[in-house]
Amino acid sequence: MTARSTRQPTLSVVVPVFNEVAAVPVFLEKLDAVLSPCGVAYEVVFVDDGSEDDTWGALQAARSPQVRCLRLSRNFGKEAALTAGLDFAAGQAVVVMDVDLQDPPELLPEFLRLWEAGVDVVYGARSDRASDTRRKRWTARTFYRAFNALSDTRIPTDAGDFRLMDRAVVDVVRGMPERSRFMKGILSWPGFRTASVPYVRRPRAAGDTKWAYRSLWALGLDGLFNFSSKPLRVWGYLGSLTIAMGSCFMALVLVLAGLGQRQPSGYASLLGAVIILAGVQILGIGIVGEYLSRVFIEVKARPIYVLQDDGTPAAARRVRSAGGNSSSSDAGRRRGSP
Ligand code: UDP
Ligand code: MG
Repeated sequence: MTARSTRQPTLSVVVPVFNEVAAVPVFLEKLDAVLSPCGVAYEVVFVDDGSEDDTWGALQAARSPQVRCLRLSRNFGKEAALTAGLDFAAGQAVVVMDVDLQDPPELLPEFLRLWEAGVDVVYGARSDRASDTRRKRWTARTFYRAFNALSDTRIPTDAGDFRLMDRAVVDVVRGMPERSRFMKGILSWPGFRTASVPYVRRPRAAGDTKWAYRSLWALGLDGLFNFSSKPLRVWGYLGSLTIAMGSCFMALVLVLAGLGQRQPSGYASLLGAVIILAGVQILGIGIVGEYLSRVFIEVKARPIYVLQDDGTPAAARRVRSAGGNSSSSDAGRRRGSP
């Protein structure tokens, strides 16, 4: 028996939702069917990420002391919605999962068992991504490889956001103030004792995926540039290499001239070299620009999300202020309560 198993586990399930009117009731029914037999005191924190359908109505219908509903003032994206949910989750353990049942609630008893045995982070490992298209599988694999090669933070190649975190981990994550939020990296950054539970990713229970390849590309760039400075360092090496190559070429030209040999001629090769070097320079400026735009966003320190409704009767607009962990006085008060 560990010390942890002696305390009353309280679980918060944080669920971002965007245009998911059909999925909400199915999700709640399934979650209750899985968690009730466990005898765990749990709450669900839904974050309506600016839905344009009647998702907010569906959430109101489901509202209970156990089901808390937050509403953002517009669509801020899943990463911001998750951040809001973590700010308001009160549990000693917090699970983040999607509403479409692609993250199976059936795994939660095993997550809880491992947590009670002393594991701080339990994530669902996708052992089979058959429900994704081949193109999505390939892009995901390539991205994870590139990320892990470039970044000091390691993210497991088979992990999504679906995971259980101990309160200690959640508090570290809440203390990370960055505006540009790549959640897979942010959730992996704290470390702690980690275990995984394999599962087969199923197709969506209802509705459509909210991701276009364009937003996945933007998310991927966010991940790479927020968690690694190596792309900046490359230009120093590349510049040195170019200078070395240019110097060798010049030396060769001088030696040939000294020997009275004909100068190498060629307008075409000269033009080729100029165009390639111009491209390298523009690329370098582009990479610097990627970092600069992120510095610009961080310096402005705008709120990560704006809350339109925090689910309490006296719902007022509350804004997560700069600094990362002063989301609302209510969240602060609720933090230590069971
Ligand atoms: N989601 C969100 N805001 C968005 C896009 C998605 O809160 O702007 C939610 C969505 O409702 C779902 C989860 O994030 O609960 C995962 O979205 P989706 O199933 O579309 O992603 P996929 O499983 O295709 O990666
Ligand atoms: Mg999904």
